[in-house]
Amino acid sequence: MTKINIERLMKNIESLGTIGENAQGGIDRALGSEADVLARRWLMEYWKERFHRETKVDAIANMWLHVENGEDRKAIVLGSHHDSVPNGGKYDGALGVLMATEVVETILEQNIKLKHPLTIVSFTGEEPNPYGISTLGSKALAGRIRKDQIRNYFHRDTLENLADGIQRLGGDIEMWEKIPGKEEIGSYLECHIEQGKRLEAMDLPVACVSVITGIYREQITVTGEANHAGTTMMECRKDALLGACEVALAVEAVLLELQDKDIVGTVGYIKNMPNEANIIPDQTTMILDVRISNEEKKLEMQHQINERVKAIEAKRGVRVHRSVILNQPAQPMSEVVIRAVSQGIRQTGLQPEQLISMAGHDASNVAAMADSGMIFVRSIDGKSHCKEEYSTPEDIEACANAMLRAVQILDEEMAE
Ligand SMILES: [Zn+2]
Repeated sequence: MTKINIERLMKNIESLGTIGENAQGGIDRALGSEADVLARRWLMEYWKERFHRETKVDAIANMWLHVENGEDRKAIVLGSHHDSVPNGGKYDGALGVLMATEVVETILEQNIKLKHPLTIVSFTGEEPNPYGISTLGSKALAGRIRKDQIRNYFHRDTLENLADGIQRLGGDIEMWEKIPGKEEIGSYLECHIEQGKRLEAMDLPVACVSVITGIYREQITVTGEANHAGTTMMECRKDALLGACEVALAVEAVLLELQDKDIVGTVGYIKNMPNEANIIPDQTTMILDVRISNEEKKLEMQHQINERVKAIEAKRGVRVHRSVILNQPAQPMSEVVIRAVSQGIRQTGLQPEQLISMAGHDASNVAAMADSGMIFVRSIDGKSHCKEEYSTPEDIEACANAMLRAVQILDEEMAE
């Protein structure tokens, strides 16, 4: 059975992982940073050395390495992103790009013949960044952002226009029509660290992603009455902040009652007015973020929250105004890719479990234009977006070998 070269893959992870490394041992490799430039150079040089091919940089600065095979078919695309969150880890994104690279290297070395050409991609600006737009490269690919919108974004510190930042990275938004389209990309497979503890709980190194979670956000404003913090008796208050606290706790209770490990919710933003020690708050605004993929349960959740909010309004004499600010449905992964990944996992002797991705990924955008799927590697302690982010070489090896098989199965199963 053909196997990938884990020593080589681990060496590349360590090597790319030094680019943007800070004094605390984390990685700073945001879109447009010097480390972004250097990571791109590292990838281009490595690809040139190993594949003897030049990297193509498209209008939004996504990097593409095409390995043609003489067949006039759509490509199987493998990849992820090379940028990082501030003080992030060396696996988020980079692992996917380097695993794609390793799988393609193995296929070429072992002379494995495929019907479809292979392409490696590293997407531009997947993570939130100082320009204020995430999954930028895959949004452009999927037509979810237009050329004329790019100039609306500026770096929050340097004030550089995003179009100029893209130019520095080798892109050129004037060449927008040259971003690869549906006619070139047949399927997309992305390896990523799980960034959670589900695989640890299942005692498995890898899993196939079935769906990328939907995201539902509400802005909730609770209005009460401002008054003197000393002279107002406890029973006479209409405290907006306490109303907001009750709403947040009610949401937690509703989510727990749904008893679904794939539903999570957070109130991570809160603004309290007038926010003074000696004034009872009269207005508190918060944002609720719920990751939920099941539409029926989403309706049930909304109904339950409505009921509880009414009760809180009556009890505290406050008014609660809620508006839905994001209602992004779940993005199912392609059946053909799910089958190939599941079989690939099985062929390496592992149980092919499926997981819902609770974080967003480039694969979600790519799904708008091609068969798209993902494979997850176990994250130790579920840690990610921090320097403690880690996956073991054994798990990474199992994942890469499953991916190698998945590519060969996909090559057989793809319609075009
Ligand atoms: Zn990522």
